[in-house]
Amino acid sequence: MKVYSTLSGQKEEFLPQSDEVKMYVCGVTPYDEAHIGHGMSYIVFDVVKRYLQFRGYKVKYVQNITDIDDKIIDRANKLGISPRELAEKYTNSYFEDMDALNIERADTYPRATEEIPKIIEVIQGLIDKGYAYPAGGSVYFRVRKVADYGKLAHRSLESMRATEGAMGSEEKEDAMDFALWKASKPGEPSWESPWGGGRPGWHIECSAMSLKYLGDTLDIHGGGQDLIFPHHENEIAQSESFTGVKPFVKYWLHNGLVQLGKDKMSKSLGNLITIKEARDKYSPDAIRIFVLSSHYRSPLTYSEEGLEAAENARERLLRVVSRDDPTGGKGEAFDAEPYRKQFIEAMDDDFNTAQALGILFDLASTINQAGDAGISIDKAQGTLVSLARKVLGLKLPRIIVRVVSEAISVKETVNVRVAPDTVNARVNRLVEERVNCRKERNWRRADEIRTKLAGLGVTLEDTKTGTHVTYKSIPSEESLDSLMAEFGIAL
Ligand SMILES: [Zn+2]
Repeated sequence: MKVYSTLSGQKEEFLPQSDEVKMYVCGVTPYDEAHIGHGMSYIVFDVVKRYLQFRGYKVKYVQNITDIDDKIIDRANKLGISPRELAEKYTNSYFEDMDALNIERADTYPRATEEIPKIIEVIQGLIDKGYAYPAGGSVYFRVRKVADYGKLAHRSLESMRATEGAMGSEEKEDAMDFALWKASKPGEPSWESPWGGGRPGWHIECSAMSLKYLGDTLDIHGGGQDLIFPHHENEIAQSESFTGVKPFVKYWLHNGLVQLGKDKMSKSLGNLITIKEARDKYSPDAIRIFVLSSHYRSPLTYSEEGLEAAENARERLLRVVSRDDPTGGKGEAFDAEPYRKQFIEAMDDDFNTAQALGILFDLASTINQAGDAGISIDKAQGTLVSLARKVLGLKLPRIIVRVVSEAISVKETVNVRVAPDTVNARVNRLVEERVNCRKERNWRRADEIRTKLAGLGVTLEDTKTGTHVTYKSIPSEESLDSLMAEFGIAL
């Protein structure tokens, strides 16, 4: 397996320290709804984790929550609630989004406010070793003391100084130095420390938490490319200075950023699309397919067309995995092994999900052809479903395809799956009514029934063998009852 590490700037053989891969990904600062950029990053690292597990590794995955920060304090003040309340609200909202996107939970979600003792311990250690100094109730990191500072961002101290130098403050020894501990202003949340009341800086949190939960050296550290500098550069400086152990991280993985048109998607440009907005319009599987269709290190351009295409692609997969085996599973099987191997090769090459997805779609087409030719497809379907679900994290529920015969006999309904009988019975009545309308050439009423059912997630398709009924979602009995009442039909 090869992975691209930002530190070396090239693909490297993946050799973790042990069979248990230690993985850390920077988490959210919960002061507002998570946006599609977060969605991309956490989907990408969810797939990284799933694939490592698929390849036989155990993965210990830690993701922090920065539940105290300037942004949280500012927003809470504006809303007239406590920072704690605000952080709690958006942390819950974040987990709801992650669950909806089928992102597996990390093993631990340490919160900054609950890790203050460890953070203080690391800061004190850095002071003791001369890497940090207290000033005015805050503590700063002495950047110039780290000879290889800039090695991750591949920038020299001088070039960084030119861009960051303006951010100096009176009490710092050097404009490049950054805060490990911030003295609190009156009215702000504050924790006791050897340097007075204050709160931790953002960078030190990740060093302290990864050290506490994963040890001195991580196998994988992930995050968006916007975190490379200064956040991850500072994490390296802090961690390696504190432990004396190099490297702090074996493989640095960074995902590309989401753009809207030509612009970066950002809070300051006001063009953020939240995960909830995307979820209102598109299925979680479509959002995942959209993200995984481009390489994780490339920028991803958010577009309605792109998501529509992903939704259609999802539907193609659903139809293929929901097909019945023409031999009832007893005929000669269609061999999907070559596709499985290609899929693994693509994923082994720095998690090339775009290529891996392409292979799954090729497999889907071949399954269709085989099914049409009367060859057994159920094993190949199993391969497709297992790779899509286990590695790519698609839910890919088997949709329910039913064929209602033109003979208007519900008894001839075949292939009924999952939907409760009470729902099936109601949909059948509506389909029967529509078939009758068509026989009587009452096209308007027939179309109306079809349109209204589609509004409830039930699509009808007229084929040679009868009406195909597809449930995109299972409607409630009540909604079907009121639809039947509208058309004057009784059960
Ligand atoms: Zn971090």
